[in-house]
Amino acid sequence: MTMKRVYTFGDKKAEGKAEMKNLLGGKGANLAEMNLIGIPVPAGFTITTEVCTEYNSIGKDKVVELMRAEVEAGVTTTEKAMNAVFGSKGEDFPLLLSVRSGARASMPGMMNTVLNLGMNDDTVKIIAEKSGNEKFAYDSYRRFIQMYGDVVMGVEAEAGEHCPFELVLDKVKKDNGYASDTDMTVEDLKSVVESFKAVVKSKAGEDFPTNPWDQLWGAICAVFDSWNTERAILYRRMEQIPSEWGTAVNVQAMVYGNMGNTSATGVCFSRDAATGEDQFNGEYLINAQGEDVVSGVRTPLEITKIGSKRWAERNGTPEEVRLRDFPSLEEAMPDLYNQLNDVQEKLENHYHDMQDMEFTIQNGKLWMLQTRNGKRTGAAMVKMAIDMLDQKLIDEKTAILRQDPNKLDELLHPVFEKQAIANAKVLSKGLPASPGAATGRVVFTAEDAEIEAAKGEKVILVRRETSPEDLKGMYAAVGILTERGGMTSHAAVVARGMGKCCISSAAGISVSSTALTINGVSFKKGEYISLDGSTGIVYEGKVDTITPTLDGDFGKMMELAEKNTRMYVRTNADSPADAKTAREFGAKGIGLCRTEHMFFEGDRIWAIREMILAEDLAGRKTALEKLLPIQREDFYGILKAMDGFGVTIRLLDPPLHEFTPNEPAAQAEMAEKLGVSVEIVKEKVDALHEFNPMLGHRGCRLGNTYPEITEMQARAILEAACDLKSQGFNPKPEIMVPLIGTVEEYVMQEEIIRRIAAEVQEEKDVKVDFLVGTMIEIPRACLTANQIAEHAEFFSFGTNDLTQMTFGYSRDDAGKFLPIYIQKGILKQDPFQALDQSGVGQLVEMACEKGRAVNAGLKLGICGEHGGEPSSVEFCHRTGLDYVSCSPFRVPIARLAAAQANLR
Ligand code: PEP
Ligand code: MG
Repeated sequence: MTMKRVYTFGDKKAEGKAEMKNLLGGKGANLAEMNLIGIPVPAGFTITTEVCTEYNSIGKDKVVELMRAEVEAGVTTTEKAMNAVFGSKGEDFPLLLSVRSGARASMPGMMNTVLNLGMNDDTVKIIAEKSGNEKFAYDSYRRFIQMYGDVVMGVEAEAGEHCPFELVLDKVKKDNGYASDTDMTVEDLKSVVESFKAVVKSKAGEDFPTNPWDQLWGAICAVFDSWNTERAILYRRMEQIPSEWGTAVNVQAMVYGNMGNTSATGVCFSRDAATGEDQFNGEYLINAQGEDVVSGVRTPLEITKIGSKRWAERNGTPEEVRLRDFPSLEEAMPDLYNQLNDVQEKLENHYHDMQDMEFTIQNGKLWMLQTRNGKRTGAAMVKMAIDMLDQKLIDEKTAILRQDPNKLDELLHPVFEKQAIANAKVLSKGLPASPGAATGRVVFTAEDAEIEAAKGEKVILVRRETSPEDLKGMYAAVGILTERGGMTSHAAVVARGMGKCCISSAAGISVSSTALTINGVSFKKGEYISLDGSTGIVYEGKVDTITPTLDGDFGKMMELAEKNTRMYVRTNADSPADAKTAREFGAKGIGLCRTEHMFFEGDRIWAIREMILAEDLAGRKTALEKLLPIQREDFYGILKAMDGFGVTIRLLDPPLHEFTPNEPAAQAEMAEKLGVSVEIVKEKVDALHEFNPMLGHRGCRLGNTYPEITEMQARAILEAACDLKSQGFNPKPEIMVPLIGTVEEYVMQEEIIRRIAAEVQEEKDVKVDFLVGTMIEIPRACLTANQIAEHAEFFSFGTNDLTQMTFGYSRDDAGKFLPIYIQKGILKQDPFQALDQSGVGQLVEMACEKGRAVNAGLKLGICGEHGGEPSSVEFCHRTGLDYVSCSPFRVPIARLAAAQANLR
């Protein structure tokens, strides 16, 4: 069968449907689906994503020939549905087309679009005559030449110059004293059209194409070409969209929101994308084209009356002014509003999800141009799912699977500290475009944002408005402030998608490339401001932030996760305070307590340094005796905070040099404090130097060469546990031997631990439940896991080291080449962030299988950084691990990911 390349839709019929997203792209599939459920959509057709792939492999000319007949047939179907003729010479109304991209995953603003296609010197006259609106006809024509000239013919501003089309417009406005484009007369527009054609001729070296078919093929190919522009590639990399997917091309009859005062255009959402509130909302403009709403050139009006009233309240606009100058669509065009409201309800009920829609009203008729599942903030994501579950719109499984675990991060992000915010000076109030709090230094360009962020600075990107070119800078910034734009502006939509705080259209602000002025106060690059994206308030200076507490819908979502999970989540915590936080987030135990992290607190470091300096066993034992009560106290606190849950305590792991100073001044301090000469300190530090410390004297190699360290630590753990037990608590320590490669290494440590445990329990006359097990973080341990599991009661995969040793990439130095490897496609992801399932993962699977084969009750967990990363959590579930362990703030993410893995 020959491949079908074009799918038509229109007149409530369609060849495609919603399920065909991979082939038709999100936009194309939904355009088809809207027709099938009886929603008014301008007719058109979709060229499939497969054609994009063909285009990139066999080239433009061959692909155009392959699809020519189908595209021509698609135009004919569209003509019939719209009762218009493409390239009409007189009798019929000319069909004008839009040509847009539409990939499987939304890539807002990343690829090319051409509107008003089909315009030429003949059609413009027919449209002027038939519409009775000459100004509209010529306005559309000049917009078309500019857009087509830019997108298809590459006519754009050269470095340091202004856009040549804008220069023409500026001159006309200046010569006539006009304030805006809309002041131009028909005669002006006619002359602009001629000047634009001349611009194209001089810049592109060829005439502007007059044949609509030439225009159409040019635009289709330009959309395919835009799949591989630098910004599209960057966006795909950041959003992890495979380049093989390709984009579809949607060719669709134009409808116009700028035909006069019975026309309008807008963007709307079936629920609030920022808060999740079940409230229809959006923005519109009368007598405008879609791009006017999103570009921020004109400030759009609210669609609903309630939204409009809230807007007026925020702005301090009196009701009579609001009603006169800024009416909602609900008030300005009540019938059309009702139709739109019906459509949004129908679409949400059909898709069972919040819809993000675009519409145009042309001479009093409503057309839907697009619908898609709306992007949302983390808070909105959780609230909508819980609300929709209550409203019986979705089931539990859908509610859980619809969460993006990483987005929970936003709920766990800082808000302003109450006292700090009470004292902060308000500079202005703008639109709360994307919630969250941010404080940072002002920068005015995306490039500066990147440079400063790379130095570790927190920056607020301040722009007049943003465009896709600013993307990298927006990623680098902690917050975004724009002078212009509504809630659906580029800045707002993109920031919300990124979960970054953003304020747009703040009152009284003006932005140049070097200064920000807010109601008379100027800020230069590097000065601090603070943003509250939830209220839209801009504050002067630096305002402290704190982490929010969680409840309500978040709690319900976590309960759902709990109910639907097999694997449980522990935390990596080294202090009682962290353990408490993690327990509040739902951690069921500690998967990794890195004992040495507590050594850096207070005066403890001196006891460990004394041990390092000791000449002999007796000297080390004296020093260790000082450490014992300190460690016992730490373990007591942690075991108590996690009472009733398992607490995995790892024996000393890092190379000893990490505890000694390198600076001469600090070495002198150490010498004085410990009563030895500086030379001795220096000698010891030199002696501890290793060429590959991560492969050196660390992990169980310490405990096996200095058994007294293990003895002290085992004693501290058991004494703490016995004390708790006698006080009526239920401590469950799990003592973990790090970095073993051979079973002998483990057995030697286990013998010490069990001997000391027996001693302590006898001394204290208390029995405690405890386990002894090991970390699996060396490939050899995976290969010999059956031998180790004969002795160990649990395995905890230390996938940080396991990744380091499997790849042979130093954890500390990989930053130099990993980004380049990812950029070049050698690696898809950083293996230290997302577990390398096909390589490192194989070792994990093998160790689990071999281990459980000899010890069916072997407890299995993971405690590397991967334990809080959703794709790795899913892998752990599939591999049959009992738990994952991650840092406290990632516990909710891991819990959700674990439930999702269980439901998938
Ligand atoms: C690991 O190696 O994965 C691990 C958790 O230990 P650390 O990061 O302390 O080496
Ligand atoms: Mg390790």
